[in-house]
Amino acid sequence: MSVFAAVVLAILAAAVAAMLTTVRARGSIRAMTRTAESIAAGDLGARVDGDSASDIGRLGEALNHVAKDLSGSIAALRAERDLLAGILDGMGEGVLLVGRDERIVLANQALRGMALIGDDAVGLLVLEAIRNAALKEALDDARAGGEPVAREIELGRVPPRRLLVRASRLPAQDGSSKPRGVIAVFHDVTDLRRLETIRTDFVANVSHELRTPVTAISTAAETLLGGALDDPADALEFVGVIDRHALRLRHLVDDLLDLSKLEAKGYRLALADLDLGSIINHCVALLEEPARKKRMRVQIDPMADIKVRADRRAVEQVVMNLLENAIKYAGEGARVTLRARAAGDHVELAVADDGVGIPAAHLGRLFERFYRVDAGRSRELGGTGLGLSIVKHLVELMGGTIRVESEPGRGACFTIRLSPGGGASPSASPVPPSPR
Ligand code: ADP
Repeated sequence: MSVFAAVVLAILAAAVAAMLTTVRARGSIRAMTRTAESIAAGDLGARVDGDSASDIGRLGEALNHVAKDLSGSIAALRAERDLLAGILDGMGEGVLLVGRDERIVLANQALRGMALIGDDAVGLLVLEAIRNAALKEALDDARAGGEPVAREIELGRVPPRRLLVRASRLPAQDGSSKPRGVIAVFHDVTDLRRLETIRTDFVANVSHELRTPVTAISTAAETLLGGALDDPADALEFVGVIDRHALRLRHLVDDLLDLSKLEAKGYRLALADLDLGSIINHCVALLEEPARKKRMRVQIDPMADIKVRADRRAVEQVVMNLLENAIKYAGEGARVTLRARAAGDHVELAVADDGVGIPAAHLGRLFERFYRVDAGRSRELGGTGLGLSIVKHLVELMGGTIRVESEPGRGACFTIRLSPGGGASPSASPVPPSPR
């Protein structure tokens, strides 16, 4: 073969080899482009196949590596986001994130419950989602001032909720001079404020109740010391005043102690299966004398052998209190009837009278502490205004309920529901407060 032929052959072979390499490289580049496009479209599992010996193969490997890293980072970010969302939604406090454009970026589950807003609140202006000018003002102040702002606001839902809001400006992101928005945390303080009011009212009521007997006792004692002691008739009268008011003080202190024991956490009763009939007979016998003095008839409707699962002293205290009230308030010559019956899964006991009754306006508040229909008359009769609230506590501690029905002039009926006795053995537990 001539030199010329050899050169031509070599050139041809080189051209064929170059063509083959180009075709293969083009195929690899196309595959890589498709993979890169899939990754860009969100398919982070897409990978380039091929050998890693060539430059193009190494490029493919680098692309696979980037895709793997990206998918790892995105999975970690997703896990972090889910954790954060879980924490925010698990919080008892409400959290509100408002963007620079004053639109809601995030409102966690607690806040959605407090403000009664839905998931669709995201993207709305705060005032559109939560119509509360005081909240808007607090967020504006936090955004403008830079200092965290704390305000108490009232949301006018039913019933209204009082919320303590702490709002702070979110710091600017790197390189930006503008703050990113405002974050606000909400604590529901409705129950706290209600308890504070109850406590203040209670202290005011106790002071008020104590003032009269204490003043009467000290005035009587001063009068005695000032000379009334020398006159036997005066002395007797003022000692009588001291005795009456000291008794009233004792009743008040006993009732207050009973109430505080009943409201103390962990208070437990000694539950046992009791014969309701014998408890009722016992209480009626104890109050025979005061009833006779007011010419009242106390009648026990015939009752079969009714067993109740309850605490003996608590039931006695409840029955005594309701009977005493009927005797005190029903009026001369009235009739009081006690009825008990087993009704389905409970036992019902009713103490009814045909006396003066209670106006409807008072019925809803009758079991509140210190609530009286006629305060003057109650005090005159030795009442403290605490009896029915103690009764309600005792009944509820035994798992029961109490209700009252009444019509002025037609008497009052207090009905208690308790669990029936069922042969379970009595449980040993601390003793309840002693009946007054
Ligand atoms: P009090 O110490 O004044 O008796 P209670 O809590 O026992 O306090 O009763 C609250 C009020 O309910 C009483 O002041 C009285 O006005 C009214 N009341 C209770 N029982 C009766 C009844 N059987 N008939 C009419 N009024 C009643």
